[in-house]
Amino acid sequence: MWTDIRPEVEMPRLFERGGDVISFAGGLPDLDVLPLETISAQLSRLVRLGGKLALQYTTPHVAGALVPAINDLMAREGTTAGADRLVPTGGSQMGLMAVGLGIAAPGETVLVQTPAYPGAAAAFRTAGLTLHPAPEDADGLDAAALRETVLRLRAAGRTVRLLYCNPTFQNPTGATLSVARRHELLAAARELDLLLIEDNPYGLLSFDGETTTALHALDPDRVIYLGTFSKVFAPGLRCGWIAAPEQLARTLRRTTEIMSLSPSALAQAALAAFHTRAGWSDLLDAYRTSYKERCALMADALEAELGTDGPWQWERPGGGFYIWLRHRDGVDTTRFAEAAAEHGVSYVPGSHFGIDGEHADGLRLCFSNVARGRIAEGVTRLAAALSAPVPA
Ligand code: PMP
Repeated sequence: MWTDIRPEVEMPRLFERGGDVISFAGGLPDLDVLPLETISAQLSRLVRLGGKLALQYTTPHVAGALVPAINDLMAREGTTAGADRLVPTGGSQMGLMAVGLGIAAPGETVLVQTPAYPGAAAAFRTAGLTLHPAPEDADGLDAAALRETVLRLRAAGRTVRLLYCNPTFQNPTGATLSVARRHELLAAARELDLLLIEDNPYGLLSFDGETTTALHALDPDRVIYLGTFSKVFAPGLRCGWIAAPEQLARTLRRTTEIMSLSPSALAQAALAAFHTRAGWSDLLDAYRTSYKERCALMADALEAELGTDGPWQWERPGGGFYIWLRHRDGVDTTRFAEAAAEHGVSYVPGSHFGIDGEHADGLRLCFSNVARGRIAEGVTRLAAALSAPVPA
């Protein structure tokens, strides 16, 4: 049931029984890197000097110092957006819901790059949309096959205008679509008159500091870009943005106003103040370093425990939060969930990232929020669970 598919925060609860569990399930950031004293001083100053504005309702606009703060993030992936194209959200989850409700019409079909973040599928379904997998090959989204799929769906009477993707350090696979593929995808989108929804929480979290040009940079009139402060600052502020063509941005402002009346002026002001004083580079470097170390610990342990020619296949990601294992023989990984719970480790089975139960042979491990000293032990427990006899 799709209503059982829950976004990141609730997910671990489905797979953990409490006690001494090492969780590789939930995709949470490592907030140890946050300069809490600085943030606390800035918040206190904000409330003291501007509290009556920061604690008031505000309009659904990105304004003032938040515009350069957002653009300082987007520019790192080669793109920018003026205030007329920006819509504030309470994070990308709200952005997904706003696009589903405000841009699409109930009953229409949205193409979804899979395996997909379950919160995206849940948002689109809640908005009354039908989901269809976007065609892919070993290198990711496949523009030629996309043409065929869209024409076939349209010939069958379906309305298809939107394609959802998470092209950089994808949740759950960690994969990044090449720039050549991005150009091909946009060429197909122009030809087919599709809008691309570019969900990009992890794009700046590469381990080597390199970034990939955002789809939005290549054609800002074809792309609805979902940005968020959840992974580059903190999810508790519930602050993100949409960058969209001006007309769509106007529609989305109305939709977000209906959804939540007003963005959090306090969160917006806190982020703008932080950026004005410190910029983003130090914090981004700290996050990247933390995830690079954690990912290396997990990948090294996986190599040691599972080998490279056994039943499990995976690749070391270049950034983001996740390692995606796949069973070579297509075994459904929910079968190991019980054994994992008994061994005190958790993961998310691949079927949660399919839109109709597919990708069941996958298994998502999240390293971003696990204590460094617990990662190897967690992988040892996982390896024990995966080699336990599987119930049929
Ligand atoms: N999209 C993707 C791909 C995600 O992984 C997440 C969170 N895990 C979100 C959107 C939602 O994040 P938020 O609402 O905190 O911005």
